[in-house]
Amino acid sequence: MYRIRFHGRGGQGMKMASHILGTAFFLAGFEVQDAPRFGAERRGAPIFAYVRAQKAPIKERGIISHPGLVLVADESLVPLPAAGILHGVEETTVLFLNSREGGAVWKARLNFPGTVLALDLIGNDLNQPGGQRFFGAICAGAAAALTGVIPEDVLMQAIEDELIHVEAIVVQENKTRARAAFLAMQDKAGIVEEGSGVKVDGYRRPAWIDVPLDDAGLAAPAIHGRRTSELMKTGAWRLRKPVIDTCRCKGCWWVCSTFCPDSAIVVESGRPRIDYDHCKGCMICMVQCSSHAISLVNEKEEVSGE
Ligand code: SF4
Ligand code: SF4
Repeated sequence: MYRIRFHGRGGQGMKMASHILGTAFFLAGFEVQDAPRFGAERRGAPIFAYVRAQKAPIKERGIISHPGLVLVADESLVPLPAAGILHGVEETTVLFLNSREGGAVWKARLNFPGTVLALDLIGNDLNQPGGQRFFGAICAGAAAALTGVIPEDVLMQAIEDELIHVEAIVVQENKTRARAAFLAMQDKAGIVEEGSGVKVDGYRRPAWIDVPLDDAGLAAPAIHGRRTSELMKTGAWRLRKPVIDTCRCKGCWWVCSTFCPDSAIVVESGRPRIDYDHCKGCMICMVQCSSHAISLVNEKEEVSGE
């Protein structure tokens, strides 16, 4: 059975990647499961999606603990324990990273047991507004090639099926990028091994530790403290940040502060101030500011001084 996990940030298209790859497997004659895993309103947060495929009914359920292929659309997630990129990887696991640094660098850095592939598939698109919207198709294209069992025309058909409600020009753009990723991985076609299925014969119950049940009043989780969500510094998810040009700002704070989905624009003395501990970089405020007083700064460039 093929077991594939896509990791990225909410909004980078990993759910779409799993749908495209799942449909491609299905069109190629496989039984398929594909599903994303994320909570509510998670743009910028670490999320993952997974695909199982084999030419027999799939009885395995739940998240994939021992993947044959892990694709990471955003290398900044690797050091985040919450992202779980390295969860369950083995010597047979292939790790594919969207990164400007090579696979050998990442393999040594992570002490990774299996094969590591790293390609900068997007190039400068990362720095352009909207460049990330093709990540799903690109990662699906790379994954399809690495399995070696999905022909190019089947991949293209899967993209058309999954994007059936999207404008033709956008579908074409997705197909072009997915094809480029598919072709770029051709020399590694078939590197992902089909793992064995789960056998019920010989199954032994794990050595569970039975925890005694407590009274509901004691055991049910309840948070009595107020404003605890403030402790979650969602600003750590950010790749780019909005910066307000105070000379251009007209003080119409009810516009930007109202549209900010995270209440990360606070108003002080009639002027907006961005709370970078909680701003996740969705850039909705920039789009809504009719005075063009908010601009986008790439966090990496700011740190490196590029
Ligand atoms: S919407 Fe733009 S101009 Fe208005 S307060 Fe916000 S940043 Fe300033
Ligand atoms: S301040 Fe702007 S970029 Fe940050 S979360 Fe709010 S709307 Fe998004």
